[in-house]
Amino acid sequence: MPATWLTEAQQMITSHQATQSSDQTADTTSSTTSSSASSSTSTSSTTASSDATPIESNVQGKTLATTYYYHFKDNVPTAVRQEFERAVATYNQTGIVKLVAGTGTTKQNQITFFVYHKAVDQQTAQTIELGYGGPNIIEQTGWGAYTANHAKAGINVDYSASIKQSVATHELGHALGLDHSTSTTSVMYPVDQGVTTLSTADINALKSIYQN
Ligand SMILES: [Zn+2]
Repeated sequence: MPATWLTEAQQMITSHQATQSSDQTADTTSSTTSSSASSSTSTSSTTASSDATPIESNVQGKTLATTYYYHFKDNVPTAVRQEFERAVATYNQTGIVKLVAGTGTTKQNQITFFVYHKAVDQQTAQTIELGYGGPNIIEQTGWGAYTANHAKAGINVDYSASIKQSVATHELGHALGLDHSTSTTSVMYPVDQGVTTLSTADINALKSIYQN
């Protein structure tokens, strides 16, 4: 699926195509600290379907186990690990998925947490990439058929602003199959709002993926 990049005015300016097998979504934040452009007027209705948290296209229709084994690449700093651990706890609290430290087998769901460096020209860039993550569906058909999600979630450590629980929660959301939401109360809103608590819509999206 195409990833959305948002400008300060919170409008889609471009998109890029994910690779064939994985569906990783880069995330951005405004490159200026001025947040005066946040003119989004959310409706008071919390049940509006437009507030639903979408599901990544490559996860739709898949039957996935609810248990994930997660591990960190060796070069992930302690500060980043802590934010991802907090994000893991947030999703475990839902009771919908169960994230367990360790490395799973090929047939099991796995999440790899990583860090990377991606600098942008802060003079010209309208957005800064904070991280990216997404599901990677492995499907074995025929004898011994299985479907597993070998997902990734990463933080761009070129920016200290990336090392936040909200960013970790967002990227882990992608790994588990959540797509970008237009609701600022969702952890899946594409521009970091500092949200660390899953919205009702986020939880409902998780249920639709894992309780089928
Ligand atoms: Zn995102």
